[in-house]
Amino acid sequence: MEREREEEMIYRALDYQLTCSKCGHDVTGSRGQQIVMEKFGWFDEWQCENCGLVSDDYGDGPGPEDVREGLLAQFGGFRVRLVEGRDGTVAAARHLREILDYSPAEAIGRLRAAKAGEPLGTAVEVEALVQALRRDGYAYETVAAGSED
Ligand SMILES: [Zn+2]
Repeated sequence: MEREREEEMIYRALDYQLTCSKCGHDVTGSRGQQIVMEKFGWFDEWQCENCGLVSDDYGDGPGPEDVREGLLAQFGGFRVRLVEGRDGTVAAARHLREILDYSPAEAIGRLRAAKAGEPLGTAVEVEALVQALRRDGYAYETVAAGSED
């Protein structure tokens, strides 16, 4: 069971430096986005090697804006591409509301802009969208922003 969970987990993380809130030791934290058991969310975790204090924050959705921006800068932007079959733009717009809290009009605008080369989101956000579309029966894949159809 644990093994299955690991195989289904998709994530992108960035290391960052902080000072332990308990003892003041330098600590390297890790924060980013993940999909675990089909659930998209963010995390921010660190453990102090000096005093053992553990911090483990996580939640649903894309997480703090600076995490998103860091992930986009480090790993690049991505978009969805139709592999075959029927167009799922309307379904994609609906899912973008759940994933990134876009309004329907904003989601459609972002999807159009992504087709023209703009990034739609981080690798994990777009993968969450692709998985949601696949559950609906639409064959989409994650590709780098700016790549050809
Ligand atoms: Zn500490």
